[in-house]
Amino acid sequence: MPKDYLIRASACDHTIRIFACVSTDLVKEATEIHNLSPIAGIALGRLLTASALMGATLKGETDSLTLQVRGEGALKRLIAVSDSQGNVKGYVDNPMALIAPDEDGRIKIGKAIGKGTLTVTRDLGLKEPYASTIDLRTGEIGDDLTYYFAASEQTPTSVGLGVLYDRETVTVKVAGGFLLQLMPNVWEPYIITLEENLSVLGDITAILEKDPRPEVLIEKIFDGLDYEILEKREIQYHCPCDRERMERALMSLGKDDLTKLAEEQETTEIVCDFCQKKYTFSKDEIREMIKKKD
Ligand SMILES: [Zn+2]
Repeated sequence: MPKDYLIRASACDHTIRIFACVSTDLVKEATEIHNLSPIAGIALGRLLTASALMGATLKGETDSLTLQVRGEGALKRLIAVSDSQGNVKGYVDNPMALIAPDEDGRIKIGKAIGKGTLTVTRDLGLKEPYASTIDLRTGEIGDDLTYYFAASEQTPTSVGLGVLYDRETVTVKVAGGFLLQLMPNVWEPYIITLEENLSVLGDITAILEKDPRPEVLIEKIFDGLDYEILEKREIQYHCPCDRERMERALMSLGKDDLTKLAEEQETTEIVCDFCQKKYTFSKDEIREMIKKKD
């Protein structure tokens, strides 16, 4: 039974808001679906956690949000997609990427991502989705998103993300994160309190390892401030792909490409990038698609 969930809370008369979550199960599921190396698991796990947090800021039922990181490092490109219902899915171009730990034994994912960009795309059901791209700061994802909110949305934000692996079993032990935002009318002394609390917070996976509840993160970040919990919701890894969707993807190919598929292959197989589910189409089905295109 998945037990990941997200808490939305606000402090000081709604001038400060926070989203915090535990995402251990959904990150674990991603590592299993995509057979991720630990470095790929940490990187995609952080991005999926961020997308779950940002998905909670969406309002419309069919709104969706895509985070894309493109880097020169071993992982190449990472994608995470979320909706307003707590569903997230994602993948990484090079799931088997390996990098050597630093001298202190720590693995820096910024190294595996390298120089590159972060693009946030919000599809709010309008004519065009809204996309904004920034250059990566450190490639550690949390820092990059903090910078994204300041640069692209002019909202002072602090993003903390963490994925911790169990060294012996090489599986995800705990994952989670928070997204903290200041509204324009926040009172200065509250900011000072928040900054102090954040400066002593330390590694969030260490906190969640002891007590895997997002409420604990909120308690520590809002220490000394008046706050209320507004919502608790489940979050999970979920891919809603189906045969029709895959057929539409095939239909979007040119007529020549489809004809080639029908002539050269007995069956055409498509694999969903997000859940690795396989869909096969026969020659006849492909021919039907070509007819439909006429
Ligand atoms: Zn799928």
